[in-house]
Amino acid sequence: MANWDRNKNLLLELVKLPGNDRCADCGAPDADWASYKLGIFVCLNCSGTHRNLPAISRIKSIRLDFWDDDLVEFMKSSGNAAAKTLYESSIPVFYYRPEHQDCAVLKEQWIRAKYERKEFTAERKHLQQPYSSGYYEGMLWKKGKDKKQFLKRRFLLSQKDFTLKYFTKEDSSTNPKAVIAVKDLNVTFEPEKIGHMHGLQITFVQEDHTRNLFVYHDSGQEIVSWFNAIRAARFAYLKMTFPEAVESELLPLITRHHLKEGYMEKTGPKQREPFKKRWFILNSNDRKLLYFKSPLDAVELGAVFLGPESLGYSVKESQPKSMRGNKWKYGVTVETPDRQFVFMCEQERDQKEWIEAFQQVISQPMIPKDYASKGLREV
Ligand SMILES: [Zn+2]
Repeated sequence: MANWDRNKNLLLELVKLPGNDRCADCGAPDADWASYKLGIFVCLNCSGTHRNLPAISRIKSIRLDFWDDDLVEFMKSSGNAAAKTLYESSIPVFYYRPEHQDCAVLKEQWIRAKYERKEFTAERKHLQQPYSSGYYEGMLWKKGKDKKQFLKRRFLLSQKDFTLKYFTKEDSSTNPKAVIAVKDLNVTFEPEKIGHMHGLQITFVQEDHTRNLFVYHDSGQEIVSWFNAIRAARFAYLKMTFPEAVESELLPLITRHHLKEGYMEKTGPKQREPFKKRWFILNSNDRKLLYFKSPLDAVELGAVFLGPESLGYSVKESQPKSMRGNKWKYGVTVETPDRQFVFMCEQERDQKEWIEAFQQVISQPMIPKDYASKGLREV
C-alpha cells in the first residue's frame, strides 16, 4: 500500500518547483491540481476543462486526493516545463496565449489545441494552417444594426489587401456590405456584454468614427480561429508597416483588451446640460475614451483623446462643487488642454477603477503613432 502522507508531501514539494508553481495552461498561481495523464500541474479553473477531456487528461487534487507511488513518480519525471517543450514547441508568434483572467472559450480552446489536437507540436503544425495562411472565410452570426437579433453573415479576411469584408448574401462574389482595413482593426472577446459565450467584438475606424461589430460562432474552435486569423493579419500588417521594429514591440499592438468599460453619466461642454447615462470604453493603445448610448451600439457618439500629464492632461476624484449628476454622485474630472470633462459613477468602486484606468493612460508617454491617433502632426 502506498504511503499517502509521504506521497502528498512529495507532490507539495514538486509543485513548488519553478514551472510547476504556476498553472501549465493559464499561468495562475496555486496550481493545486494535477493531470496525472499529461504530467502537469494546473489551477482549479483549468482542471475543470481537463475533466471534460477524459480521453487525454485525468485530474486529481494534490491536497485532497490519494496518490499511488507510480503516479507520483510520473509527475516527478514530467512537470510543466517538460510539457511545455512537448506541447508548445511551435506556436505561431501572433497566436494568443490566454491568461487566467481571460474568458472561458479562449482558455478551453487553448487546452484543447495543446493536448487534444496537439496543434503546436512540430508533427501537427499543419493544423495551424486555417488561421496562419493569410486568408480566412466563413459564416458568423452578426448583431443586426438597430435590432437585437443576430443575422448570419459571410466574412472574408485577406492579407492580400489587408481587409476584412462581410457580405449580406451568402455568396462572397457579390458586393461586400463593408470593407474594413486591417490597419484600424481590433478584436476582443466580450461574452458577457454580447450575451454569448463566444461573443467577439470587432472594432474599426471608418470616416473618423470608431465602429463596432458584434459576432459569434456556435463553435468555440471556430471563433478562436477567427480571433487568431485576425491577429495573424494584424501582425503581418504591423511587420510591413514597421519593418525596423522588433517582434516584442509589435506583439502588444496586435489586439488589445479594453482597459475599462462601463456606464457613467456625462454632461455637455457647458457643464450645464443635464447628465446622461452613456456606455464608455477606454483603450490604452490608442489613448481614446469612447462613448456610446448603449453597450452594443455600432457607432460611437464621441471620443476623447487622452494625452500625457506633460501636455496638460490629468484626472481627479470628485467634481466642481456646484455640479450634480442626474442620479449618480461619484464624480471623476478629466482635464484636457481644451476642456474639462465631468463624469458621474454609480458606485464608489467604479469611480476608483475609472480614475486608475485614466491615470494609467495619462501616465504613459506619447509615442509617435499616438500623434496620428490624436489627429496631430506635431505638438
Ligand atoms: Zn489555469
